Amino acid sequence: MIEQESTCDMVSKPFNVSAEWILARRPALETVVRPFATVLGRRAKIIAALNGRLPATLLQRPVNESGMSWLVRHLSGQWNDGMAKVMGDLLPALNASFPDLSADFQTIDEMLPQHPDMAGTLYRAWLDGNQAAFNALAEDRRISAGALGFVVHWAMSTLFHALRIKWQEAQTPIPEITGHCPFCGSLPAMVLLLAPDQRINAFLSGGGGQAFLYCGLCGHQWRFARNRCPVCETDDHHRLVYYQEAENTGQRINVCHQCGHYLLCLDLRQTQAPPSLEMAAVGMIHLDVLAREKGFRPMASTPWNRID
Ligand SMILES: [Zn+2]
Ligand SMILES: [Zn+2]
Repeated sequence: MIEQESTCDMVSKPFNVSAEWILARRPALETVVRPFATVLGRRAKIIAALNGRLPATLLQRPVNESGMSWLVRHLSGQWNDGMAKVMGDLLPALNASFPDLSADFQTIDEMLPQHPDMAGTLYRAWLDGNQAAFNALAEDRRISAGALGFVVHWAMSTLFHALRIKWQEAQTPIPEITGHCPFCGSLPAMVLLLAPDQRINAFLSGGGGQAFLYCGLCGHQWRFARNRCPVCETDDHHRLVYYQEAENTGQRINVCHQCGHYLLCLDLRQTQAPPSLEMAAVGMIHLDVLAREKGFRPMASTPWNRID
């Protein structure tokens, strides 16, 4: 039986504050925003607990030197137990927030202690983009591949957030900046626009008119050319356009007609940011829908934009 738990504490606060901020502006998103606030709050607690347990030897060189493969090699051998624990720790919040998937969550929760290698196998399949391995495991266990992917995605982002925080604490040299996250190699989930002297946290420093890409998997933010597509790197302004609602100029979607991708854009020069950027992204889910209707696809998959 998956036990339920309250998320009312200080670690969850940024997510609750952000949820209220979004719902005051867009009350129709209540059934989307509340569940994600609960899971993000739970994940924050797990990340904080993980920080003291991560081996420093994992992070002695820039992770992105050889892309994701470096992390995969190191994590899959050492982190079977850690990965299983992260998944198990997330399941109560996922179960409380997404009751339609409850039967699948229950099966996953029961499988974890019985199959010590399963979590490692799942992480590896996810990182390798090995959908066939994923589907085979889901079919074998009679659970939906979508629910399994949802759980693994949350667990991956939990682990990668903890690793990325450790990496920044260690002040590991940052490799050359591209459209891919310099820590984990993912494409961005969002771009943030800031005024020249604006700072939203300790990692966002530097002068000039600024665009920062935000990684949905590990939470890293890095500076990038404002008028360039992070995927195909075109800077042809005829190919790069954006859509926004007339009454809400702080939120928009940037689309690239060259590669067909879209990216959520939060213009912090126009709007006060809520404390959690991830909650802000959840609150822009209507723009995800709009971009997909126009035939564009997201640069990065997130737990909120993968729900159809
Ligand atoms: Zn990242
Ligand atoms: Zn492009």
